[in-house]
Amino acid sequence: MFLYKYFTSNQEEPPKKEASQAKDDFIIVNESQENLPDLRDLKLHDEDQRLGFAIVGLGEFATVEMMPNFKNTSYCKITALVSGHADKAQKYAQQYGVDPKNIYNYENFDTIKDNKDVDIVYIVLPNGMHAEYTIRAAKAGKHVICEKPMANTVEECQSMIDACKEANVKFMIAYRCHYEPFNLDAIDRIRKGELGKIKQITADTSMIIQPDKYEYHKWRINKELAGGGSLMDLGIYSLNAARYLTGEEPIEITAFESTDKSDPRFKEVEDRIHYILRFPSGVVANCTSSYSSFGVNYYRVFGDKACLLLDPATSYTGHNAFKVSDDGRLQLSIQEGNQFAAELDHIAECVKEDKTPKTAGEEGLKDVRIIMAAYQSAQEGRPIPL
Ligand code: NAD
Repeated sequence: MFLYKYFTSNQEEPPKKEASQAKDDFIIVNESQENLPDLRDLKLHDEDQRLGFAIVGLGEFATVEMMPNFKNTSYCKITALVSGHADKAQKYAQQYGVDPKNIYNYENFDTIKDNKDVDIVYIVLPNGMHAEYTIRAAKAGKHVICEKPMANTVEECQSMIDACKEANVKFMIAYRCHYEPFNLDAIDRIRKGELGKIKQITADTSMIIQPDKYEYHKWRINKELAGGGSLMDLGIYSLNAARYLTGEEPIEITAFESTDKSDPRFKEVEDRIHYILRFPSGVVANCTSSYSSFGVNYYRVFGDKACLLLDPATSYTGHNAFKVSDDGRLQLSIQEGNQFAAELDHIAECVKEDKTPKTAGEEGLKDVRIIMAAYQSAQEGRPIPL
């Protein structure tokens, strides 16, 4: 299968380019020769085959996890950076060989429409900013990949989908687990009937939120920027997994919130939330997320023939899968993959081949709609039909 080419071992890494070396690859066109074609553009699109990405927001996830993985892709390269901090942007521009003329800030971001080096804009900002920057990128005529959760409200999600449709650009939500071999293997086994008829799923995600210690935890406890607490940030992985594992859409949600409001971290967003999803086939998914429990992420899928456990299930690396059946408890041999490279190449391929991304905006909207119903259920103390 296409996605399995992104193994972490046996990966052939292209030699790292220094900024000066990257510059040498371009043919410099004399500015006075206005009628000549832009050969740098030909280099990007024809010879190199890589599409240019603008990274919007140079925070923890972008700089530590995602940007370093561009070197493992086949069709992607970083060609522009968007940041409120010029010094930070310059540092990363040098590291990734980005032309300094392709550094933008949040004010002049819209002028990116004139930049032919940029095909795709990747939004890695706090959740509450996803809608604005997705819409601005679409209006600039750029394809968009946006981090999860898609946005803070259903209305925002819909306006993002509409803007991308109107601009006729591709739109993808960065649900990396859809491009990760252990999760793909789990889906495959379930679809093939290896577990028998699926009865229930349990899934839990947690971490201890420490805004005093980590800069990137600060906005996560601000309702306007985060949209909510542990469910928006972490519980979305379990919710999304329950949907892709069953291949069904839930018909009802019941949720219970447990938040110590005297804890200064939880003045605006929830700490723990427990939610139960009912699916049309009768499957029940029992999920929790927490901002005050030791960090784990796992799920268990119970069938009438076998049970499948992934622990961790939705980490960046280091996944484990076990099958429990009459044959005992078997650790499954699955090769770890590079979900980031697979995900980035997926949107690039969708742009090149005019295909709809597997995790399009509609997928993100479905999760946000269910999350909003979970909050409503917790507040009103009743199940909410979906
Ligand atoms: P972060 O705080 O490290 O990065 C956010 C960036 O936005 C920073 O560069 C910050 O300077 C910038 N920013 C601009 N305006 C801001 C404002 N008003 N307040 C705060 N920051 C502002 O956060 P992060 O952990 O990198 O998360 C960014 C996005 O990525 C979020 O949507 C998050 O859910 C998502 N994320 C996804 C994964 C994943 O596995 N797919 C993992 C972590 C984070």
